[in-house]
Amino acid sequence: MPKVALLGNPNCGKTTIFNALTGARQHVGNYPGVTVESKSGVIHTERGDVLAVDLPGVYRLGGGAPEERVVTESLSGKDIDLIVNVVDSTNLDRHLYLTLQLWHFSLPVILVMNMTDEAESQGLLFDVELLEKLLGVRIVRTSGSRGEGIETLKRMIASVAFKPGGYEHPKPMPYGVTEEAVIEEMKESLRNAVSGRDPEPESYLAEKLLEGDQEIVSRFEQRGNEGRAAVEKAALLRRVLTERDNLPAPVVFADRRYGYISGLVREVLLENRRERLLWTDRLDSVATHRWFGIPLFLVAMYVVFYVTFTLGDPLVGWTETFFEWLGAKAGSLLSDSPQLQSLVCDGVLGGVGGVLSFIPTILILFLFIALLEESGYMARAAFIMDRFMHKMGLHGKSFIPMLIGFGCTVPAMMATRSIESRRDRLATIFVLPLMSCGARLPIFVLFITALFPEGYQAEILWCFYLIGILLAVSTARVLKSTLFKGGDELFIMELPPYRMPSSCNLMMVMWQRALMYLKKAGGMILFASVILWFLNTHPGSEDETVRQEDGGVVASAQVLEHSYSASIGRFFEPLTQYAGMDWKTNSALIGAFAAKEIFVAQLGILYAVPEGAQDDSGEKQALLRREISTHYSPLQGICLMLVCLIAMPCMATVATMKKESGSWLFTLGNVLFLNFMGLFLAILVYQIGLRL
Ligand code: GDP
Ligand code: MG
Repeated sequence: MPKVALLGNPNCGKTTIFNALTGARQHVGNYPGVTVESKSGVIHTERGDVLAVDLPGVYRLGGGAPEERVVTESLSGKDIDLIVNVVDSTNLDRHLYLTLQLWHFSLPVILVMNMTDEAESQGLLFDVELLEKLLGVRIVRTSGSRGEGIETLKRMIASVAFKPGGYEHPKPMPYGVTEEAVIEEMKESLRNAVSGRDPEPESYLAEKLLEGDQEIVSRFEQRGNEGRAAVEKAALLRRVLTERDNLPAPVVFADRRYGYISGLVREVLLENRRERLLWTDRLDSVATHRWFGIPLFLVAMYVVFYVTFTLGDPLVGWTETFFEWLGAKAGSLLSDSPQLQSLVCDGVLGGVGGVLSFIPTILILFLFIALLEESGYMARAAFIMDRFMHKMGLHGKSFIPMLIGFGCTVPAMMATRSIESRRDRLATIFVLPLMSCGARLPIFVLFITALFPEGYQAEILWCFYLIGILLAVSTARVLKSTLFKGGDELFIMELPPYRMPSSCNLMMVMWQRALMYLKKAGGMILFASVILWFLNTHPGSEDETVRQEDGGVVASAQVLEHSYSASIGRFFEPLTQYAGMDWKTNSALIGAFAAKEIFVAQLGILYAVPEGAQDDSGEKQALLRREISTHYSPLQGICLMLVCLIAMPCMATVATMKKESGSWLFTLGNVLFLNFMGLFLAILVYQIGLRL
């Protein structure tokens, strides 16, 4: 099957096009850095199937960032047959930069001029035929979000991919006489040192050596005399270029490329009624304002949480009622075997159901985050926070993973791959578990609704998110000035235009994230719920077995008292009591390690309503809330939430951290640090609170 690589700057609409071509449903976002890994899918064309790979978005090749390396590697490998380069038609000045690096790879290129709808509304018209001639590529104009031009693109891909004898390649970039002579000479002296060992094409290597690219230079230096000779020759030739233009080496070629592009664009631009959507600029002058920017962002987040709360609450009630009903049904069906009944009702439905009843709240929160992302505001938020992040010693790019961390820590850690500096990256990964993820929301919701009056609930939730952020930022600051010192990098944050989010897209994003959550609930949480059920009901005391009731089965206090989880909880109680925690919350924390949501499920099982208390409302959550409000004070609630916020990162987080950092030492250090800090702060708050 011929293989086509989709390539382009971040946020050019690549994934949208990929989805339209392959019928896949990758996550689309109006936000740079959404695609971190490359995804593949099959395009069914009239002439046969073609395999498409959606590569991560890059601004250029060979800058040293991990995703740039991924892209250069895939293009250099022998298996790609065709490049589809997507560009934003409203931003050719910047997007063509990457296009001008593609000729090195001797592959046919189809240039997709996407966002034609926006270009048209801005009055930008291009002489496409001329541009095709100048670049030596085929051009298709599309509007990915409206699905326009996709069929034409498909036909074009088929005709290029299945053309016998191959297709024409793009024209080499004309650098000018001197540069080209220098490159030729460089290529000559490279030949001895290369001898087929490098995947990259020769012309590309020559350019990189002349630019003094660190990775390539050190690769050649390790190749004995011939390699070193090439590096020396490069240094010599470089002087020719830099002295003439008085420009530092890495900039010489970039300068030529930008010069060439601005000429190209002037040439092919037919009309430029620069009525530029002025309101984007006007909105930006407020959204990214020096003083208003950050307060505006905080207000926006507050509104999101407030609405999530007020809309989510009644919906959660309904879901709870549903699971209550389901439990009663299952209970009466399985009344013959008490053990099984207990497993299903308490273990499975109690655990998974308790977690699932928060789905409405989580859906609403995800919807809002998707809305912020899609509209383009999220990128502004990252931009205004960049200044702030730098003050805190972190990289501006760290902010993107941190925002994703509000959803789930796992993809957030994966998103740190766009941070070039390893030190910055590790520091970011280290503090990511402190960003309060979606799975912690059920815990907060439970305690806040149980222990605090209605008027303050949103405010308290907001505070906990803020505490997480502050802790993360100060931890990072400490780390960056000690263990992970140095490595600060220049950072350009791209601001995509504001867009009316398409409801279809929003639904898709929300659905995908909810699905991720559901998958966790289905597999991991089910598994953990059963294990916990076992820990809760075994070994149990001899004479006291599980008692039966018409609605369902509940473990008696006796059984729990003698369970493994009680022993574990009790073992830690002498320590955790200083933080206001008893053995029940301790054993629920064990559940939180499996997945944060399980904390709630576990408390639900531990406070399973005893005989006779199966009262009028019949709502398990309401009962649990009441149990909590009778057993815990608001101060204890705060300490518990602190512990849940900080300590006990979930299994998935730990596993991902190991994978992304590549170090067990780092991972274990992080887990120890988080648990220690969580407990320490909770003890501090509890002791001070008690004395006040
Ligand atoms: P990627 O980062 O290159 O993969 O870009 P995405 O496919 O995630 O798209 C970025 C944003 O641009 C999303 O909000 C899309 O809905 C939007 N988008 C994609 N193609 C078009 C288009 O042709 N016109 C307009 N107006 N928006 C588009
Ligand atoms: Mg993408």
